[in-house]
Amino acid sequence: MASGFQRSIRSELQTFWWECGKAAMEDLANLGPPPPITGGLSEKDELLALYNFDRHGHRPTPDLMKRFRASWERKLLIYETDEELLTIRDELRNIFENGKAVTAQIMSGWNTPRRRLGKIKLLFIDIHGTQLPLPHIELRHVLVMVILGVLPKMTKCANPDCPSPYFLRHKKTQRFCDRPACLAYGQRIHKLNWWREHGEQKRVARRKELRNKQATRKITQKRTGGKH
Ligand SMILES: [Zn+2]
Repeated sequence: MASGFQRSIRSELQTFWWECGKAAMEDLANLGPPPPITGGLSEKDELLALYNFDRHGHRPTPDLMKRFRASWERKLLIYETDEELLTIRDELRNIFENGKAVTAQIMSGWNTPRRRLGKIKLLFIDIHGTQLPLPHIELRHVLVMVILGVLPKMTKCANPDCPSPYFLRHKKTQRFCDRPACLAYGQRIHKLNWWREHGEQKRVARRKELRNKQATRKITQKRTGGKH
């Protein structure tokens, strides 16, 4: 009986961290403006856009920052300052964009606890109607667990205007997030690409078809003309 109870505590805790961790990870990666799209820019303009973003554009408004804390500080042990949270956000963005190539290095920098001496937060979780203290696992450690589980699903929406482009895809080939505007954008791009690929062939086939029709018409006209 006791072991069944322990098992269910364990699985409730796992679900709790798993679900909170996934949602907090997406939320943090999308906190504040996403980096500028630099594809198609000259090297100089690209550098300038990135420099401006770094200097002025990358900070979320204080309101957004407060909202992030208000949603997650009740559930996860967050000791980070705003500046430290933004560094984690940028590291997460890097993982969302570059996957395996950068993950190990970033995660190995997350090993040390953020909790300063003498500072301790206590959070409680309600399991089976009992308030139990949450084991002391800090934000970045929860993120490590989540990333190890969902790394292949972490990706960036291919719509350059997507307001929250970092998301977990549910299909291997999915390039756009589930926002209706991004799905519509994806369909337009898909059609455009299809036409680029097959349009010319289609046009050639159509012209051929028309020529054949005209030719058959001429022959039939000739034939019917001959009979009279
Ligand atoms: Zn999107």
